[in-house]
Amino acid sequence: MRYAELAVNSPGSHSTFCYAIPPQLDIDVGQAVWVPFGSRVIQGIVVELSDQPSVEVTKEIAETITDYPLLSPRQIELARWVSQHYLSPLFNSIALMLPPGFERKLITYFQYREGTSPSPTKDLPPLTPEQTQALHLIREKEKKSFKELERKFGPKKAKQICDQLLHYHLVMKSQEPEKAKVKPKSLPYVKLIASKDEIEDETARLNKSRAYKQAAVLEFLSQQTQPIAISEVKKRLDCSLESIRVLERRRLLSVELVNIRRDPLSHLKLKPSLPPPFTSSQQAAWKIIADNWTKRDDHGSPSVFLLFGVTGSGKTEIYLRALTQVIAMGKRGICLVPEIALTPQTVERFASRFPGRVGILHSGLSLGEQFDEWQRIKEGKCDVVIGPRSALFAPQPDLGLIIIDEEHEWTYKQEDKSPRYHARDVALKLAQLTGAVVILGSATPDIDSFHKAQLGVYHLVELKERITPHGYSPLPKVDIVDMKGELKVGNTSLFSRSLLAAMKETLAQGEQIILFLNRRGTATFIQCRNCGFVFRCPRCSVALTYHSAEKKLTCHRCHYAIPVPQACPQCFSHRLKFLGIGTQRVADEVKRLLPKTSLLRWDRDVTTKRYAHERLLSSFRDHKADILIGTQMIAKGLDLPQVTLAGIISADTGLNLPDFRAGERTFQLLCQVAGRAGRGFKAGKVIIQTYSPENYAIQSAAKHDYVGFYHQEIAYRRQYNYPPFSHFIRLVYYHTNNDLCRREAERVRDTILNEQERKGITKLSLIGPIPAFAARVRGRYRWQLILRGSDPAQVLPGITLPQGWTLDVDPVGVI
Ligand code: ADP
Ligand code: ZN
Ligand code: ZN
Repeated sequence: MRYAELAVNSPGSHSTFCYAIPPQLDIDVGQAVWVPFGSRVIQGIVVELSDQPSVEVTKEIAETITDYPLLSPRQIELARWVSQHYLSPLFNSIALMLPPGFERKLITYFQYREGTSPSPTKDLPPLTPEQTQALHLIREKEKKSFKELERKFGPKKAKQICDQLLHYHLVMKSQEPEKAKVKPKSLPYVKLIASKDEIEDETARLNKSRAYKQAAVLEFLSQQTQPIAISEVKKRLDCSLESIRVLERRRLLSVELVNIRRDPLSHLKLKPSLPPPFTSSQQAAWKIIADNWTKRDDHGSPSVFLLFGVTGSGKTEIYLRALTQVIAMGKRGICLVPEIALTPQTVERFASRFPGRVGILHSGLSLGEQFDEWQRIKEGKCDVVIGPRSALFAPQPDLGLIIIDEEHEWTYKQEDKSPRYHARDVALKLAQLTGAVVILGSATPDIDSFHKAQLGVYHLVELKERITPHGYSPLPKVDIVDMKGELKVGNTSLFSRSLLAAMKETLAQGEQIILFLNRRGTATFIQCRNCGFVFRCPRCSVALTYHSAEKKLTCHRCHYAIPVPQACPQCFSHRLKFLGIGTQRVADEVKRLLPKTSLLRWDRDVTTKRYAHERLLSSFRDHKADILIGTQMIAKGLDLPQVTLAGIISADTGLNLPDFRAGERTFQLLCQVAGRAGRGFKAGKVIIQTYSPENYAIQSAAKHDYVGFYHQEIAYRRQYNYPPFSHFIRLVYYHTNNDLCRREAERVRDTILNEQERKGITKLSLIGPIPAFAARVRGRYRWQLILRGSDPAQVLPGITLPQGWTLDVDPVGVI
């Protein structure tokens, strides 16, 4: 007997399970199977084969789902690493790599047993009205799903009823997997099978007997060199399906199903493009990469390059060259870009360089498109896969290169569900397993990445100047305006005097402006001037945000909304003060001060619709408006050559958050905005308004001085023993009852402290329990513990956390 270790699709199961392989089944590592699990049958993935069972009693695998492995042994190894490192169930990590739409649940059905009678027999007690009703429902159809009965009677009752009916032997229970969510798409195609002479004779005959449509079909098909879709024939000739079927029955033509690829790029008009000759800086950068391509470090890991260059310095051209190189070596690549940068322009740039050989994977595609792309990639038909963080798990064979653009982006970390992985760290592991080279690109590298480059773990590759289609262009000049000074001279406007003057000048030149704000809504919150009361969400306890368009106060976490109150509920005063600023307020202010200018607003409120932001952007690029106002969304990846002025209304938001990465985040945002201006012919100008002009993040951003910022930041991290000098694990407990929530957090803190002492772990500190920054989300309280140390995970094995806890290893934020 052979045995298989399986990761099973059952929430919370961390270990693998051993199953016996029945002799008639051919099972391989990576294959998907159905297995009995408790009273259910669930999906499992084979992660290992052996001749010995790992437990005494084993059940047998029921059935295979696919007859070929879905995952390669390397992917399984990667999944094991992810689940170990991020302390998450193995199946969750494996699920990242499965084909789209793979996960299927099992449906329970009840079926009436023929030959028994619903009327009470001698030995059966009379049925209750509900049991009778249920039995009628079940008899109506061949079988009834338990779900439907649940809807009718409620979950508890339905179970009771069904158990009784089963006990009386009136019904049978069966289980079947739900229907596949997605399948290959196929369409009926027709082609002629009769000989040319036959067709000619037949056409003449049909015309004579006035069957003109059938004759036309034959004539049309005889002009085609390839099978053609029935729908196309019907449309072109305006004929019925029956005319085609008649010809089929007479064996003049045949109809067969043809697989159709749902192509997510079909709407792009692609012109194949050639690479431009490299500039001398690109040449120098490329030389470092090419020279070190095949080098291995002491542990046998392939090279990692940190490509450090401002936006517009030509990094993407380097990526494209590296991809060309890896393809020439007979291998393939994966290129990750932040979700927000996955625009048609970006995709087009890659797709036109490698026509027909680019695969794209992201959640914005239809499930059918995702499914077809996944299959195409697995079959080795894509030289390049491009997508957001999840594209790292594409089944790309012969992987030779992984590129991560904007590697500092926090969206590379999955935060909302397990495994809470960081795509950069997983990419490094995948590279080690496959021998793929890694290129990380950024204008403002993650502090940890730059630190590794300083240590020589990564090769640092620099691109110092910006290239525009018109040659090199200097970085914009940045001025810092101290808003305290504006207040002193009585300027209470959102705009400082110098920003307003610069705006007027820019508009007079016929150029464009972006105004940046790290917030949404017209006011962050409303406060009573009399008693200080602040309107908060009753479910989440965060301050409600004022939206002037709907005249509502809205919670940005749970979408709770109320009309704007007239008075304070605490002291009944009418003196409510609107605090903070939002894009709407900036827009109002622009209209007041510069009534003739046209403007566009970009933030998440406006751009929730798919492609809405692309439309907004292209109309701004076409100069349909002079000013674009937006939140952090506009800071990323836009190419707006006519913008010569960027104004940052308030740089302070975010700086004061209680998170050790607040400075890094602010610096990155400011640099990104600053990088927007002046990408065309003219040099740009940036104005940063702030109440803390001396802050080092703001100072360095104004000087475009990443390295200066890095040195201050890394000193601070070293001093306080923050990452990269230590590792964090964040444990959050959610509960609707605040007291219970806190007590559970305290209990786990004590357990951890005991375990630490028992194991004699020294380099570990524990922070908390403290309420999370937004202490309450969607009606649930959150208390958190933070573990910090050189290897904080070592205290956790042996501690079981009850439901309600989430674990985040290497969190990107701790608030
Ligand atoms: P990044 O990825 O660093 O933002 P890009 O590769 O997008 O930079 O380059 C910025 C602009 O310069 C793009 O419009 C690109 O087409 C152009 N560009 C890049 N390299 C060259 C080159 N060698 N010759 C001419 N134009 C170039
Ligand atoms: Zn009040
Ligand atoms: Zn809320």
